[in-house]
Amino acid sequence: MKPKYIIAFDQGTTSTRTILFNEAGKIVAVAQKELTQHYPKSGWVEHDPIQIYKDQKATFEEVLLTANISEEEIAAIGITNQRETTVVWDKETGIPIYNAIVWLDSRTKSYCESLKGKGYEDYVRNATGLVLDAYFSASKLHWILNNVPGAKEKAAAGQLLFGTIDTWLIYKFTAGKRHVTDVTNASRTMLYNCKDHAWDSRLLDIFNIPKVMMPKVQVSSSNFGSINHGATSIPIYGVAGDQQAALFGHGGTAPGIAKNTYGTGCFMLLHTGQEFISSKNGLLTTVACSLPSQGAQYALEGSIFVGGAAIQWLRDQLQIINTAQDTEAICNRIPPLEDVYVVPAFAGLGAPYWDAEAKGAMYGLTLDTGKNEIIKATVEALAFQTKDVLTAMQEDGNMKLSKLQVDGGASNNGYLMQFQADMLDVPVDKPEMIEVTALGAALLAGLKAGVWTENDLITLRKTEQTYLPNMTSEMRQQKYLGWQQAIKRTRTI
Ligand code: ADP
Repeated sequence: MKPKYIIAFDQGTTSTRTILFNEAGKIVAVAQKELTQHYPKSGWVEHDPIQIYKDQKATFEEVLLTANISEEEIAAIGITNQRETTVVWDKETGIPIYNAIVWLDSRTKSYCESLKGKGYEDYVRNATGLVLDAYFSASKLHWILNNVPGAKEKAAAGQLLFGTIDTWLIYKFTAGKRHVTDVTNASRTMLYNCKDHAWDSRLLDIFNIPKVMMPKVQVSSSNFGSINHGATSIPIYGVAGDQQAALFGHGGTAPGIAKNTYGTGCFMLLHTGQEFISSKNGLLTTVACSLPSQGAQYALEGSIFVGGAAIQWLRDQLQIINTAQDTEAICNRIPPLEDVYVVPAFAGLGAPYWDAEAKGAMYGLTLDTGKNEIIKATVEALAFQTKDVLTAMQEDGNMKLSKLQVDGGASNNGYLMQFQADMLDVPVDKPEMIEVTALGAALLAGLKAGVWTENDLITLRKTEQTYLPNMTSEMRQQKYLGWQQAIKRTRTI
């Protein structure tokens, strides 16, 4: 019997899932477990690595059972995961010496500030494409080695291993045989030199991390080892961090293609091809998944702190909508030229303004402004913020966006997607298969397994709806100018 299914492990911040895809790239079965969040102190966020492994295994078993298929029918497994989250374990016992420190955890903020004070910022940016921040793995790993008794000595003696979640899962599932990661995950550790394609010895020195702890780095679509299940050995042929997997799942394999995930926050990636481009606007440079026929590929990455969260604010704080879904019909009722603006700078202004002190604001209110105008302006703010980041990315990359691929909860808002296409003046493409992150991991694995060819990738991804720009350029300029003025008045620097 020829194996025909592909499994994706999708290990996220709040849940662990296993998804079964068929040859047509369609989902056959899904199993999911919620992940316990541990908050030992203010600003600290931890996960239990053993729970992560057990949940991944349990959801895998559950999917096999519900789909009623046997192991022999699975061609390969792909893994996608929350990025940057850091695990350290004992090489002999395979037991973690501390909980996983989650990407959101800010305990190493002051340590990172002290490194900035020593002038390492430029080196970090040039070597890794990242900003020197507590968000990435390097300072978390440094913290574990310096705070778990005896860890530093054991690490130096080669008795401890480091991994992001992909590495940890592969290590456990291969019974300790493989200590590996992929380039996209490596590029988020702040220890990987994205130009030389190797762990950076100067950064390892700065963070005081013995090189023996570091996993071997492979391209995202390659052989990461095998999982023995029953009498069958199933290969892991794909690994990528969640955002890069999503870009790949959207078919983002060529320069100029961008994806935006409209969730609580918005996460944007613009594929920039084979050149490592440093941002002048505070955006990140990151490694993208490459096709087997390509060399190393890069992307610019930017995020918006408050995306769908602004819609939640309308619902929970202002209480002027019942559900997020209500916003679409309301937006469609308000005349297009209404010039109310809401700047949802509830957590400061991010890229490309980087103004942490800024606060949210509303502009253009008159006596006839009602709640519906405020709702519409809040929805439109997601599109304006996206345009700000994408404009900065295009400037950095010296390239023109060809289309925007979208996913995430708020991409279900047809008004917002049309307005986004109008503001960007490029088509906005929403896929049928909304699980693009898991699909990306499955595609990486399926390519290596020979289930799909590079050409299949184009036909596998089906568009549900394309929103074509349909606004005069005068109107676009007028609306965007209004937004830029609102931003100008909101900024504190
Ligand atoms: P996350 O993965 O960050 O939890 P989701 O992708 O599930 O986010 O999207 C949820 C977010 O999208 C919420 O903030 C919600 O307010 C927003 N949202 C969901 N549906 C709509 C809609 N139809 N219009 C506008 N916003 C929406």
